[in-house]
Amino acid sequence: AIRVHNIAKSFGSSAVLRGLSIDFVDNAITTVLGPSGTGKSVLLKHLVGLEAPDQGEIVVFGKDIWKISEEERYALRKRFGVLFQDGALFGSLNIFDNVAFPLRKHTDLAESEIGDLVMTRLREVGLEHSAAKLPNEISGGMRKRAGFARALVLNPDIVLFDEPDSGLDPVRTSLLNDLIKEMHTEHGGTYLLVTHNIPTARRLSDYVGLLWNGALVHYGPTDEAFDSDDGFVRQFLTGDS
Ligand code: ATP
Ligand code: MG
Repeated sequence: AIRVHNIAKSFGSSAVLRGLSIDFVDNAITTVLGPSGTGKSVLLKHLVGLEAPDQGEIVVFGKDIWKISEEERYALRKRFGVLFQDGALFGSLNIFDNVAFPLRKHTDLAESEIGDLVMTRLREVGLEHSAAKLPNEISGGMRKRAGFARALVLNPDIVLFDEPDSGLDPVRTSLLNDLIKEMHTEHGGTYLLVTHNIPTARRLSDYVGLLWNGALVHYGPTDEAFDSDDGFVRQFLTGDS
């Protein structure tokens, strides 16, 4: 459903992506690992069409997203759910309204139907009792779960996660990872995560990609990557990157 071919992106004189290609496996969980500042967030922004590459192509459901009309691109974007690095909840809206936001914006469902859908999602992520709270009245882990509920509320085909584990302690990280895995088993779809947390990649993903110097230096099944004989891959996955 989604692949990128030879994309490059510079900001001013600094090249961030340098000929990156990846053909994500459909309906799997893929994690792209890379050290801080390697361009993981930049890559995700390209996937969802929030940044345009200087060269190369991003193909979503068979369409090069920069060779179609604005309307078509907008329609494709609705098939994505995104959990941004900071959760990106609207601070002045309560948790219910945050999760309801995409439904109100993109569908013409009645409020009663919206209420059912939102509460179903909030139950799935364990936040049914926090619906009336504001984002700053709940913990960081709960905000992540609320962001996750919002990312899933339109039943996206592709879900992007930017460091779902950032700012969480190890216990909350593993709880969130379990939740992501459960939701994937339950709802399917193509899940793409970027993180520098190696245990998260190992625990959660079917496939791992390794991002280094603006390009993908390895992509394959998680087990194989962690058993690899390749010195660089070994060092990447065992050393602190
Ligand atoms: P982290 O793990 O810390 O989140 P990251 O891998 O997500 O890091 P990016 O946020 O993708 O890193 O940034 C990669 C590089 O691109 C950084 O040097 C950053 O300063 C630069 N960069 C990203 N977005 C912009 C922008 N809009 N304008 C200029 N520079 C940018
Ligand atoms: Mg980032």
